[in-house]
Amino acid sequence: MNRRKFLKNTTLSTAGLAVGSTLISCAEDSKIEKPIITTKAVASFPLVIATWHVENATAEAYKVLEKGGNALDAVEAGCKIEEANEKGQSVGKGGLPDRDGNVTLDACIMDKNGNCGSVVYLQNVTHAISVARHVMEKTPHVMLAGKGAEKYAYELGFKKENLLTEASKEAWEKWKVEAKYKPIINIENHDTIGMIAIDKNGDISGACTTSGLAYKMGGRVGDSPIIGAGLFIDNEVGGCVATGLGEEVVKTVGSFLVVELMRQGKSPQEACEEAIGRIVNKPNSNYKNFQVGYVAVNKQGETGCFGIHQWFSMTKYQNGVNEQIQSEFMVKA
Ligand code: ASP
Repeated sequence: MNRRKFLKNTTLSTAGLAVGSTLISCAEDSKIEKPIITTKAVASFPLVIATWHVENATAEAYKVLEKGGNALDAVEAGCKIEEANEKGQSVGKGGLPDRDGNVTLDACIMDKNGNCGSVVYLQNVTHAISVARHVMEKTPHVMLAGKGAEKYAYELGFKKENLLTEASKEAWEKWKVEAKYKPIINIENHDTIGMIAIDKNGDISGACTTSGLAYKMGGRVGDSPIIGAGLFIDNEVGGCVATGLGEEVVKTVGSFLVVELMRQGKSPQEACEEAIGRIVNKPNSNYKNFQVGYVAVNKQGETGCFGIHQWFSMTKYQNGVNEQIQSEFMVKA
């Protein structure tokens, strides 16, 4: 089962789920519904959540946590599974290239103390998330880009690899026949891996890694390596990660917004819904043509997820159960 095929599973292992629906106002579309989902979870740590259907990745992270490992090690280990998975064409090795045929990776990581590291436009190195972690832990900087990030990775001992697999090259060559450049992510086609873990001590860390928008302009960077947009962790409050059209997440500083809304008392679910609403309800929003999804967890271990459109999902591993949860969404056809 790949992560684009979704189980219609809304079971929450430790939670009761109630779904209702109210209409919200929007300039052009009266059919936008705002589902209300309440998930009352009893804190049970460790736990890990991730964007999309990535059960192998959450399993790897949970393995670290079960042994008493910390949340930072867990999210790095989990993301590395997807980065190494050549079949996933949106993360790490095998990622779809930009319009010029270059696979360029964006990733970031954030720990319980608010430290963070990120790499943007990294080429020829599979484990962008590990390079981001080194930036956080071993340099005085937060972000390294392009050639500088790549050079730093080699200095650390990462090996140079060709990330463009035959399958991704073939897809790119097909795309080149028409080479229509649309800076729009197909509603079902994006799979950035964002992951948040809470370890046995109750401490939170998060990570996010992607090859970004397929056939993007050379040099384009999305939300995923930008702290506050693609990822934000506050160990006192909770964490959030994003997937979808990065430009829209950046414009609303999405993950930071979700965490701040949780700080003000909203549940993770309510916070994700409000952050999606901020994108959809912007004047002249083109929301019908792109997807954005958030997953979030608070310090109490309550989780939430929400997308603009159908087919967003979250993988959650808690109490020994690794499950895919289909997300509710705002725009009903
Ligand atoms: N958020 C990523 C980006 O805009 C793409 C994705 O989630 O698929 O680069």
